[in-house]
Amino acid sequence: MFVCRFCHAPLRTTFVDLGMSPLCQTHIAPDQLHEMEPFYPLHAYVCDRCFLVQLQEFVAPDAIFSQYAYFSSYSTSWVEHSRRYVEMAIARFGLDRNSKVMEIASNDGYLLQHFVERAIPVLGIEPAANVAAAAIAKGVPTTVRFFGRDTADDLVREHGRPDLLLGNNVLAHVPDVNDFVAGMKQLLAPRGVITMEFPHLQRLMAENQFDTIYHEHFSYFSFVVAEKIFAHHGLTIFDVDELPTHGGSLRIYARHAENGGLPVGGSVGALRQAESDDGFLTLDRYRGFGEQAKATKRKLLAFLVDAKQRGKRIVGYGAPGKGNTLLNYCGIRTDFIDFTVDANTYKQGKFTPGTRIPILAPDRIRDARPDYVLILPWNLKDEIARTVGYIREWGGRFVVPIPEVQVL
Ligand SMILES: [Zn+2]
Repeated sequence: MFVCRFCHAPLRTTFVDLGMSPLCQTHIAPDQLHEMEPFYPLHAYVCDRCFLVQLQEFVAPDAIFSQYAYFSSYSTSWVEHSRRYVEMAIARFGLDRNSKVMEIASNDGYLLQHFVERAIPVLGIEPAANVAAAAIAKGVPTTVRFFGRDTADDLVREHGRPDLLLGNNVLAHVPDVNDFVAGMKQLLAPRGVITMEFPHLQRLMAENQFDTIYHEHFSYFSFVVAEKIFAHHGLTIFDVDELPTHGGSLRIYARHAENGGLPVGGSVGALRQAESDDGFLTLDRYRGFGEQAKATKRKLLAFLVDAKQRGKRIVGYGAPGKGNTLLNYCGIRTDFIDFTVDANTYKQGKFTPGTRIPILAPDRIRDARPDYVLILPWNLKDEIARTVGYIREWGGRFVVPIPEVQVL
C-alpha cells in the first residue's frame, strides 16, 4: 500500500484505473520497434483524508525529465498566453529592471523571453538539459536542475531572492510536493509573489479529461487541496484566476503568510465555496469518474469503428502526452489511425509509445488527403483547425475526442 504524497495517509480509494500504459514521452525510434517496452499501472487514487488525487511514482523524475521532448514554444497560442501573462505581471506587481523574476520549469524560455525583452532580470530553473540549452541560445539565463529545498538554498546564495517566482504546469509533475512548496517558501523574497498555473481537477472531471492523467503527472489539484498544501508551508493564496488553457486551469497567486500587504481577494473564498458546493470535500464526489472514462472510451471507439466500416481514412494530429493515454487506454493503433503528425522535429520519424503509430511531419496530411483528422491535443483544437484548415478542400473533417467525440 502506498501513501499520500502530501499527508501520508494510506491510499485506498480509486479515482480512475486506466490500465497499463507506457511513459508518454518515450517515443519509439525505428531501430527499437522490435524491442519490449515497459508499461506501468495508470491507476489514480484519491486520498481519503486530504482529497489529493494522485498517481504512484514508478519512475524517478530524472529518468523522465532529464531529456525532455516537450518544447513549449511549439505552441503559438501558449507563447501568446505567456506574453499576456508577462504584461499583466509587470503592471500588477510593478516589476522593473531592479526586480528579479525566476521561473521553475522554464522549459525553452517561452515565457521568460518576454521579461528579457523588457530588460527585467530573469533566471530559468529547468531540469532538462536539452530544453534549457534552447532557452540559453535565445538569451534566457537558465540553470539546469530540479527544484526543491536544496535547490532553493543554492539559488538564494547564488542569485538572491525573486520578487516574482512562477511555475506553469510543473506542480503536477512534482513527486515530493512538500519539498517543492517548502522550497518556494524558502526562496521567495519577503514581499514577493508566487504564481502557479495547473490544470483544475474540477474541469478535468466535468469534461472527461481522463487523458490528461499520465505518469509524468503525479498529482491533480482542486483549489481547496492546493490551498491546504500552500497553507501548510506558510504560504497564503490571495487571488486566483480561472483560465481556459489546458482544458481549464487555475492560476493561483501566493505570498508569505506573514505578508499582510496583499489582502486575500474575494475570488479565493468564492472558488473555495464553489468547490465545496460541488462536493469536492466528500469522497463520493470522486468515485464516479472511472465510469465517465469508460463511457467516453466507448463513444470514441464507436465512432472509429463506424468510420472504418464506411471505408474512411483517419490520421491523427499531434503526439502529446494526453494522446498516449487516450490511444493506449482505448486500444487505438494503426488499425484505426494511419499515422499522426507533430510539429516537433524531435518526435518526427518515431512511433507513439505502446501503440506504435508513425509520427510524421505535419505536411504529410496534405499528401494523404484523409477523411478525418483526430486532434489529440484537443486543448489546441482551434489553433490546429486553423493551421490544417486546408483539409476542407477535399471534404476532410476534424474529430475531437474529449469531452466526448465530436466531428467539426
Ligand atoms: Zn492526503
